[in-house]
Amino acid sequence: MITNSIYGLTFEQLAAWLLKHGHKQYRASQVWEYLYRKRVTNFSEMTEVNKDCIVLLEENFVIHTLSHHVKQEASDGTVKFLFKLKDGNLIETVLMRHKYGLSVCVTTQVGCNIGCSFCASGLLTKTRDLSSGEIVEQIMNVQHHLDNAGNGEKVSHIVVMGIGEPFDNFENMIDFLKVIIDQKGLAIGSRHITVSTSGIVNKIYEFADTNIPVNLAISLHAPNNDLRTKIMKINRAYPLEKLMDSINYYIEKTNRRITIEYILLKDVNDHIDEANELAALFQDKKKKVYINLIPYNPVDEHSQYQRSEQESVLAFYDTLKKNGINCKIRQEHGTDIDAACGQLRSKQIKKEKDNSITL
Ligand code: SF4
Repeated sequence: MITNSIYGLTFEQLAAWLLKHGHKQYRASQVWEYLYRKRVTNFSEMTEVNKDCIVLLEENFVIHTLSHHVKQEASDGTVKFLFKLKDGNLIETVLMRHKYGLSVCVTTQVGCNIGCSFCASGLLTKTRDLSSGEIVEQIMNVQHHLDNAGNGEKVSHIVVMGIGEPFDNFENMIDFLKVIIDQKGLAIGSRHITVSTSGIVNKIYEFADTNIPVNLAISLHAPNNDLRTKIMKINRAYPLEKLMDSINYYIEKTNRRITIEYILLKDVNDHIDEANELAALFQDKKKKVYINLIPYNPVDEHSQYQRSEQESVLAFYDTLKKNGINCKIRQEHGTDIDAACGQLRSKQIKKEKDNSITL
């Protein structure tokens, strides 16, 4: 069975592969246009591509490797897709509607080994990395869903913040970025793409050196080592001092602003003291940092964490602002469906397990 996704190739890789198999460079442009502009779902629909080339593609690649498993739609227009991979694993992808456009949150791994203590996704450890094709295909599936609705809508923004740690699947994530920013294809603006990491320091340096001009977000969630280690065990491997050094390097190297993600957990990290400590941490790079405050979506499995009171959220925000730090309280999406990242997937896996026990 052929399982190689055509979406896994960058334009240069496709052109080189076709050339190696006796086809001229312009064939790659044609195939690319059919995939990403005309968005065909079958090689046979590439009517201007010659028969030999179609047969060659059919013998070596597939267009679809994901199938729709479950779809949840929220009243605010958020759509959560649960896709089934060829090997039966399930992954989650989310489409969100904003005033500025449509964004898609993609998954990079089946499960996650980082084990952040508040996260529904990390409850299921990593089974495997997704290929670059499987990451691109999540976007193509969502785009096909929009195409089928017939309203002319297009995915405009991407956040690499779904299940998994993107920097733990670095090469595939980089190939994925190359495909989606390619001007001949989907042409998603680099400034409209954000990659989020839990803080794998060596990869932050490597990412800065790639010069791919997309945005970087760091999941910080605590302003000191003691608290961060309690919330995120990755802090043991990459403590705050090392993380801050890598952030400084990234800012210097790229001259881009960095986003800091901070989930507010009631009575854990949401006090004024922590807001002041957080502000102090970024005092010398105020212009280059933007802090996203994220109200926590409680999950049954992590009953030790609750959502911060609205008063605490506002007080935290005000304290950062008074210290001159750029920040905002993140707008929530899909609150009437399984809102927390990975929640739909973990519920579905549990449901399917329970059903198989009952049968
Ligand atoms: S928050 Fe991200 S990095 Fe942490 S466990 Fe969840 S998916 Fe993994």
